Amino acid sequence: MISYLSIALPLPVQKVFTYRYEHDVHPSCLIGCRALVPFGKRIVTGVIVESSQPVQGMKDIIEVIDDKPFFTESMLRFTKRMSDYYLCSWGEALKAGIPRGMTPQSVMHVELLTRVEQNELNIMKKRAPKRAALLEILMNHSGPLTEVYLEKMLKTGTVSDQLDALENAGVIKTTRNLEQGSKPRLHSIVYVHPDILKDEQKLREVLHGLDEKYPKQASVFSHVYLCQKRTGNGIALSKLKEELQLQSQSPINTLAANGIILIQKEEFIPESEVIKDSLAKRDESLLNMTLEQKHAHAMIHEALHEQHAKTFLLHGITGSGKTLVYIQAIRSALALDKDCLLLVPEISLTPQLVDRFFATFGDQIAVLHSKMTNQERYEHWRKIRNGNARIVIGARSALFAPFRDGRLGLIIVDEEHESSYKQEAPAPRYNARDFAVVRGNIEHIVTVLGSATPSMESMFNAQHGKYHYLHISSRADGATLPELQLIDIREHRKAGTLHGSFSEEMLQAIIQRVIKKEGIILFHNRRGFARFQECPDCGHIPMCKNCSVSLTLHKHSGMLRCHYCGYAERSMHSCSVCGGTDINEPGIGTQKVEEELQELLKSRGLKVVIERMDLDTMSKKGEHRRILTAFSKKEIDIMIGTQMVAKGLDFPHVSMVGIIDADHQLFMPDFRSSERTFQLLTQVAGRAGRSGHLQGKVLLQTSHPEHQSILATMTGSYELFYNDELQSRKDALYPPYSRIVTIECSGPDEYAVHESAAVIAQLLPTKGQPFFILGPSIPFIAKLKSQYRRVIVLKGNKNEDPSGEILRTVLKKAMHIYAVQHAKKSVKVTIDIDAYGLV
Ligand code: ADP
Ligand code: ZN
Repeated sequence: MISYLSIALPLPVQKVFTYRYEHDVHPSCLIGCRALVPFGKRIVTGVIVESSQPVQGMKDIIEVIDDKPFFTESMLRFTKRMSDYYLCSWGEALKAGIPRGMTPQSVMHVELLTRVEQNELNIMKKRAPKRAALLEILMNHSGPLTEVYLEKMLKTGTVSDQLDALENAGVIKTTRNLEQGSKPRLHSIVYVHPDILKDEQKLREVLHGLDEKYPKQASVFSHVYLCQKRTGNGIALSKLKEELQLQSQSPINTLAANGIILIQKEEFIPESEVIKDSLAKRDESLLNMTLEQKHAHAMIHEALHEQHAKTFLLHGITGSGKTLVYIQAIRSALALDKDCLLLVPEISLTPQLVDRFFATFGDQIAVLHSKMTNQERYEHWRKIRNGNARIVIGARSALFAPFRDGRLGLIIVDEEHESSYKQEAPAPRYNARDFAVVRGNIEHIVTVLGSATPSMESMFNAQHGKYHYLHISSRADGATLPELQLIDIREHRKAGTLHGSFSEEMLQAIIQRVIKKEGIILFHNRRGFARFQECPDCGHIPMCKNCSVSLTLHKHSGMLRCHYCGYAERSMHSCSVCGGTDINEPGIGTQKVEEELQELLKSRGLKVVIERMDLDTMSKKGEHRRILTAFSKKEIDIMIGTQMVAKGLDFPHVSMVGIIDADHQLFMPDFRSSERTFQLLTQVAGRAGRSGHLQGKVLLQTSHPEHQSILATMTGSYELFYNDELQSRKDALYPPYSRIVTIECSGPDEYAVHESAAVIAQLLPTKGQPFFILGPSIPFIAKLKSQYRRVIVLKGNKNEDPSGEILRTVLKKAMHIYAVQHAKKSVKVTIDIDAYGLV
């Protein structure tokens, strides 16, 4: 039979495409499957989303890749909703739900056919510089190159026009190959032959016979038999050989040939990693909940039983035992035979949290994280899809976890206020917290957003009855909140009691605890050594070549690095402009804090072990876990780190947290800077005094003790902060009162970028609309990764346009006119709905 099918392609065009397909299955079985289709000169992987009517000029589907739908019906609806909301294509939203490495890729190889003479090349350089540059790369390289590689080398976006021209001129040849995505790995599983298993008489005969004549075969057989009896399953061939330490496989082969055992090829399902040095102290589900925990759990439990959509905001102070509430909620869901999804900000940074869930749920968990290989990610994906994992823990993209239709019962978003839930690039630029709620609504299930410092938006929603508010106001297990002490750095500077970045008070507090062997966490939110290098003679500051930011000094490696694009160069010993040799190194980073502290403690006769935890020291796999384990065993006295130490750590022996510089983010030109400062400082402070028998203390150094966020942190009152901040958001019309949408134009040609932004701004109507337009303006970071930037900010009034529908419609229309009449190839336009920040 012939079907006409709508296919969503992962392209930035907001429509679906119709293809023809001849097949012998029911067309409804095809919806949700991936298909390879021709698109222009390329072959792309799309997703069949609907039945359609024939259209002129449509082409045939090359191949339907899946035999069962890849996307369930509710995931199709979910991704459609995402594309409508974030103004991306359905295909782009679906692509976010396909793990890396699972899509067959069509790869173009470019081969040089003839070399071009130098003078010809020189002429081309003037007429068509990009084409010439491309040709030069090919000539300096033996063998074919991929299109992607060429685009990377040239850094100017697509090269398809240049390739076409060169191919037409007969200089190059292009070919397309399909590189397969991941496939299930198969492995051999050994079973007792079913005929023997069901016949006890025969079984005894076989055992007896083997025992007498073939002891090796006998031991294999009894091993397989016992294993199968114990687990109800066969045993992997590799495991069997390993456990019996067999040198040769011949006894196994003989048994198989004689029909006594059966070897079957089966799909490999990964077991959960065995965690050697677990960071979890115990199975927490055995603890008695506090009254507040019980109350929160009871409300969630009840909602789970009601089986319709409901969202909770679980606001529990640091150390209040939110994790135990999550664990109990998951148990309730499992008891109803429902699967659970737990989203965490950055999984590789939260090994302790993951261990705590493993301590209760073990092998029922599948973890999805960014450090997996494509094959591993694929296998875990299958494990979830096959129903072999009931609980999925993962970062942002796990929001797309492929639970079987109707099986998901509970979504938990831990630390819901975290900015890492927002995907910046590529499209869809979604917020996983917000769309967790959407997924919850689509699947009619319970969603729990948890935090000690809820985002302004979530708290606002809770206050307006959109979310059910749950509060845990005291710490579990008799612990109390730490005592906070503010240290005014300006006074210490005047009095001469400041040693580098440490006040005498901070230093004394550290020394006392080092002596008592209590744990210390120091927080400093800037990695590297100094903030930058500067020549006082001529004022030169080394800047990034690709971004308009200064380079950060990393002293141990002798490098200056860009924290935005990774660009690095040697640090200056003398000024590269005027030759001056007196180089300043202002500002401090974690490296310098560590060095200073070592010196200070040594000069007072103390020997301590200090470890640093930031992006620079954590690049090695497993390093994070190693440091945390050592710290929990008290092999490390002091841990210094960036915001990595703020996240979820639970060490009962930590009695002090020192904040070296609380002012880092205070004056960022962003409407969220107060909120972020408050959240970060409160979270870091919350690492201290988490067990009942050790009072915690937090020392906070600042030069702005009068600042609202600092004061609010000191009072420890979320309510106080929230009310003040809400008022300022209202006055300035920022979220939650408005919806922020940014339109960013970027590209290598500053003038073109500028012009495009101006055109777009003009295409947007200003009068009588439920939104304001700000800009176009030059953002704080005017150039990023070699791309110049201009930004237009739209502030949608939520009172007048609650769902943002009017704004989106107007915006779509303007962007359509722009695309048809004004678009420039060199300018990339990205629209960010609910942009997180404005920097
Ligand atoms: P939060 O995530 O809210 O900051 P945690 O879940 O990390 O807090 O809990 C803090 C500590 O209190 C953990 O060590 C946890 O095991 C412990 N804890 C939680 N609930 C209880 C309880 N009901 N009884 C005893 N200890 C508890
Ligand atoms: Zn850079």
